Amino acid sequence: MSFKDLQLNKPLLRAVAEAGYDNPTLVQEKTIPLVLNGNDVIVSAQTGTGKTAAFALPILRILFDQQDAPKKGKKIKALVVSPTRELAVQISENFKTYSIYTNIRTEVIFGGTSIEPQKETLKKGVDILIATPGRLLDLHKQDLVNLDYVETFVLDEADLMLDMGFIDDVKKIERLCPNGKQTLLFSATIPYKVEQLANSILNEPHRIEVTPNASTSKNVHQLLYYVPKQHKIELCLHLLRNTIKGNIIIFRRTKFGVDKLEKTLLKNGYKADSIHGDKSQTGRQDALNKFKKGEVNILIATDVAARGIDIDALDAVVNFDLPNVPETYVHRIGRTARAGKTGIAHSFCSADEKSYIKSIQQLIQLQLDIIEEHPYPLDPKAKPIIHTSKKTGSKHKKGRKSVASKKKKKRWY
Ligand code: AMP
Repeated sequence: MSFKDLQLNKPLLRAVAEAGYDNPTLVQEKTIPLVLNGNDVIVSAQTGTGKTAAFALPILRILFDQQDAPKKGKKIKALVVSPTRELAVQISENFKTYSIYTNIRTEVIFGGTSIEPQKETLKKGVDILIATPGRLLDLHKQDLVNLDYVETFVLDEADLMLDMGFIDDVKKIERLCPNGKQTLLFSATIPYKVEQLANSILNEPHRIEVTPNASTSKNVHQLLYYVPKQHKIELCLHLLRNTIKGNIIIFRRTKFGVDKLEKTLLKNGYKADSIHGDKSQTGRQDALNKFKKGEVNILIATDVAARGIDIDALDAVVNFDLPNVPETYVHRIGRTARAGKTGIAHSFCSADEKSYIKSIQQLIQLQLDIIEEHPYPLDPKAKPIIHTSKKTGSKHKKGRKSVASKKKKKRWY
């Protein structure tokens, strides 16, 4: 299928071609016709599947057709609500890329930065507004946002939105939009609470599922290191020296942990930056930009700060701390090995995290490849291996059922 088959018009086709997209992705093939047809949809798809264009392109197509109508100032016709500031910025950048050959105006508003410039932006008139919930309600309270003309309401990363405690805000925003609007709900996973929300705000939605909840990319080599908690930093430094190369995201559970690791890596001469919820908006955006531009090659992040962020060309993900929610593991490692590339996920497991690894393996129906021979084993009886060669790094023991294990003896680390 081509984009032309999806009823996109010339300005959009041109923009999409210039963005380097040859053909629609699966989620786009399934979602775009339904949105153009006016249906409500509930889409289960993760970042990396092309889900943003799946809602952005049909919204732009619909608005483009309305552009000929006489204008009496711009009104917000499409509202996209996103849980995090980074995601909101990313979505608005996508809209701007696709609408470059149209007069459709997209703007983004989010908390954590000065409200004044955002007020000025809104006064100029906007067709498509992307917003985080708190700032949107704040500006609405001040009568600076009018949602009376919203025709399409998009809820992105609904599961994260609920995890972050935005349920009441989301419901409030939904009620501020007109009754007959079209609603599009996107979520990486559809747990019960998302299902409940969907039931309360969607009208006979069509369901689209692009990746099953527990799927992990077949192109990711998933490695597991048992290591005492107090030696994780040493193991991390050891792997960075010998094994892990390229652009890396390291996940930690807490903001404190992120800061601590960042300091250690910087002290050891690595180019690293970090994102977490306690950093200012500018600080987070700066870190992300530096990483995207290649000024730093290591980004340390908490899950909430990193969720949904699209970063190309990621070579490895390090789970410095294992997530206590197994689905989070799937989200994390889904960031590497995108678009047919291969990637590596290194997971560190200390004694108190063994139950997490059990749940993760149950969910993904796969045993991770255990790397037994490294200098900081959890089992004190195991003989530490001191590596002499920078090239070879750690030796690994193949797990029983892992996809990675099929790649016999190939040196991919
Ligand atoms: P998303 O899942 O929306 O975050 O998109 C992930 C990445 O895929 C982004 O970098 C998009 O620019 C890119 N992308 C979206 N649609 C396509 C497509 N049809 N072909 C190639 N890349 C795409």
